[in-house]
Amino acid sequence: MNTIEHEIIIVGAGFSGIGAAIALREAGFEDFLIVDDADGVGGTWHWNTYPGVAVDIPSFSYQFSFDQRTEWSRVYAPGRELKAYAESCVDKYGLRPRIRFGTTVTAADFDAGTDRWTLRTADGTELSARFVLSATGVLTRPKLPEIPGIETFAGATVHTARWDHDLDLRGRRVAVIGTGASAVQVIPEIAPRVEHLTVFQRTPIWCLPRPDAAVPLPARLALRLPGGRALTRLLSQTYVEFTFPLAAHYHRSLPTAAIGERAGLAHLRRQVRDPAIRAKLTPDYALGCKRPSFSNDYLATFNRANVTLETAPITEITATGVHTAQTAHPADVLILATGFKVMESGNMPTYDLHGVDGLDLEKWWDENRLQAYEGVSVPGFPNYFSIIGPYGYNGASYFTLIENQTRHILRCLRRARATGATRVEVSRAANDRFFREMLARRGGQVFWQDSCADANSYYFDKHGDVPLRPSSTVEAAWRSGHFDLSDYLFTPAR
Ligand SMILES: Cc1cc2nc3c(=O)[nH]c(=O)nc-3n(C[C@H](O)[C@H](O)[C@H](O)COP(=O)(O)OP(=O)(O)OC[C@H]3O[C@@H](n4cnc5c(N)ncnc54)[C@H](O)[C@@H]3O)c2cc1C
Repeated sequence: MNTIEHEIIIVGAGFSGIGAAIALREAGFEDFLIVDDADGVGGTWHWNTYPGVAVDIPSFSYQFSFDQRTEWSRVYAPGRELKAYAESCVDKYGLRPRIRFGTTVTAADFDAGTDRWTLRTADGTELSARFVLSATGVLTRPKLPEIPGIETFAGATVHTARWDHDLDLRGRRVAVIGTGASAVQVIPEIAPRVEHLTVFQRTPIWCLPRPDAAVPLPARLALRLPGGRALTRLLSQTYVEFTFPLAAHYHRSLPTAAIGERAGLAHLRRQVRDPAIRAKLTPDYALGCKRPSFSNDYLATFNRANVTLETAPITEITATGVHTAQTAHPADVLILATGFKVMESGNMPTYDLHGVDGLDLEKWWDENRLQAYEGVSVPGFPNYFSIIGPYGYNGASYFTLIENQTRHILRCLRRARATGATRVEVSRAANDRFFREMLARRGGQVFWQDSCADANSYYFDKHGDVPLRPSSTVEAAWRSGHFDLSDYLFTPAR
């Protein structure tokens, strides 16, 4: 058996993997390998190339703090610019030779005798590492709807996260299933070129105005002036903080959610002419139960004569189209804007994980509820660190999560190096304390839980918990640099 050995293996070459690798190099850890099942870097921005794909927070916040671009073409940059940014980071920080593409990790097992992980891959190669950094993201594995007859559809079927660029939509009858964040971006882009578009909506999404604009050359040049980037980022971070984490976690004391709902309803009134369609597009759950979307043209698309909004449940799909109990909607193309497996089995992480004594992470979480110390480490799984573990992400820019969790992990790795420890494991007591703290902060209630029941939100796990970190970004950043290292056990080789 061909075994590749490294001190550290990073699973995932999206921005989490890239950010972690940059931090490792900076701290002098050179013996690492990044593996990814894709054939390119960028994760989300490598896989998602559908028309209209873009960030849904300002680009000034959606980038590394230590590598801020001044060339974003828009406040909300299109996906291809994020892909290019990922490529440029990989080259600038010398990561390319350390990436192994086309490598799907299927299982990881900890050997308590050697304090090393063995990772199995789909192509049969075995990887061995002292430490594993899991950077597999969470919006990674496309979710396919379970609709009777879907496999009999005779036209083309495409999931937004695996777009087929040979697919010509001009003059075709297109059915879009789903109205989440990807649908909000793709629908206005394709509506003008298709013959007819039928949108199947289960749950209307809160859609807020998007403060988007082109960033003209003079503004890009101004960003390069002393303080230009810092000031823009400060404004952008403040905006993101108020629209996501503070609105969600501090809704009892801050009126941001109520203001957001009023803005969303006013946006809907301005954009959609027909009151009956407006009513269908009005969410019946509180803003915050699901991730809201930001768009200036999604809602107005439903004014078009060639667009139908169908809210009746789909009963079946046949060779020729999509059916509800009352209506048959003929279609040539089926677009599945059905999102990703998020809090589902097989996604967190995307491979089987066995720690000390064969402890199965998924099973452990099933039995004990999703939890991880500071969203990074789980007792019983030594030398294993996650960028996005339960209660790690607070809903702000993913880049702040990456930098916070990487800071946490690097503190552990540096201590291990300094003490000669071959095993680093969070104590059960520290994990339990952190979990209790997170639950107590919610006061037993997640968001506006009573109104979230029908929202079909991927925020909720199978236990009904919302494993998002109920904290501000500033606090999360502070904790990543100041948590007590004695919460971990550093054990030298025996
Ligand atoms: C359309 C879209 C828009 C988004 N916009 C925003 C936004 O505006 N702001 C924001 O904060 N977040 C946004 N997100 C969330 C986005 O996923 C994160 O911001 C970020 O890109 C995640 O980076 P990551 O590296 O953790 O994961 P990913 O980008 O998902 O990368 C993980 C990589 O790991 C690979 N992988 C997974 N499992 C395995 C395995 N077992 N073996 C090998 N490789 C594996 C995957 O194929 C993937 O390439 C958006 C997501 C989508 C889909």
